[in-house]
This record gives sequence, C-alpha cells and structure tokens, in this order.
Amino acid sequence: MKTGKLSLDDKLFLVKTKKDAASHIKINKKVCKHCEHKMCLVVCPAKTYEEKSGAIEASYENCLECGSCRVVCTDGAIVWENPRGGFGVTFING
Ligand code: SF4
Ligand code: SF4
Repeated sequence: MKTGKLSLDDKLFLVKTKKDAASHIKINKKVCKHCEHKMCLVVCPAKTYEEKSGAIEASYENCLECGSCRVVCTDGAIVWENPRGGFGVTFING
C-alpha cells in the first residue's frame, strides 16, 4: 500500500464488511420513478445504487454507512437503518 495520501481504492482496502441476510436499505421505487436527479447514483462512494431496467436497486452489502444517500434523496424514498450488531462495516486502522 502507498503511504501518504491514499486513493479511494486504497481506502476501500481498509474496509471490511459482513453481509447480513436482510438489507438495511429499502427503496420506495414508486417515488424513484418521479425523481429527476437520481443523486443516489452519484453520491454513493460504494456504488451501492444502480439503475436496472428503469428501477433503482441497492446492493446493500456494498454500503459503507456514510449516510450520504439519506441526505441527497430529497424525496424520502430511502429508508436506511444501521445494520444489525455484528454486521456491516468494520474500518481497519481507524
Ligand atoms: S435519489 Fe432517492 S428518489 Fe431519487 S432515484 Fe435515488 S432513491 Fe430514488
Ligand atoms: S450510506 Fe453511503 S455508502 Fe451506504 S448506500 Fe448510502 S451513500 Fe452508499
């Protein structure tokens, strides 16, 4: 690993996730149909959100728990809860 300033890929190398069976992210897809900005696709550093056949899908196991999607989804389509204890993200060295 490089020293000094870390790239995003380097930083992601320091993250471990444990996938729960159930998603901690739920999306109201009816709301998404009328969303003009679809900022969830832009802001998520983990590329959790994807548009497939016109619908927004969340690969919740990618989530880094940063909270950005909750802020930018101004229409309130995202219901995001902390992963259950023992699941989700572990940050190494930090
Ligand atoms: S920002 Fe919210 S409403 Fe818009 S597409 Fe993403 S989840 Fe749907
Ligand atoms: S909390 Fe952050 S990492 Fe997780 S889905 Fe939302 S924007 Fe992506």
